[in-house]
Amino acid sequence: MHEMSLVQALLTQLTSLAAEHDKKKVITVTLTIGPLSGVVIDSFQFGFDILSAESNLTKGARLIITSPTVSYHCVRCGSIQTAAMRPDHCPECSETLLIAEGGDAIILNQVEME
Ligand SMILES: [Zn+2]
Repeated sequence: MHEMSLVQALLTQLTSLAAEHDKKKVITVTLTIGPLSGVVIDSFQFGFDILSAESNLTKGARLIITSPTVSYHCVRCGSIQTAAMRPDHCPECSETLLIAEGGDAIILNQVEME
């Protein structure tokens, strides 16, 4: 599962962050996962629950995931649709070629530690 390796990478990042700031416990982790990143958020959450329990640093940590909306830019008339799912066509001119902007990133927003 793709998500497991991402969770593993996140936990590695959290471990070095904690060492850097001399912290012993991760309380909450806030992540932005773009809907176009290819990550299944439920799987990510599931992977986090399993892997975070294996380390005292992250055991019981709360994972908060936000998913931004994506802008779809019509190549013909230039109108922009904001939607969580790709629209089939442009509602203004029916063009089917819409360019997605944003939404493919995975960003670590905030980590609360003590
Ligand atoms: Zn259009």
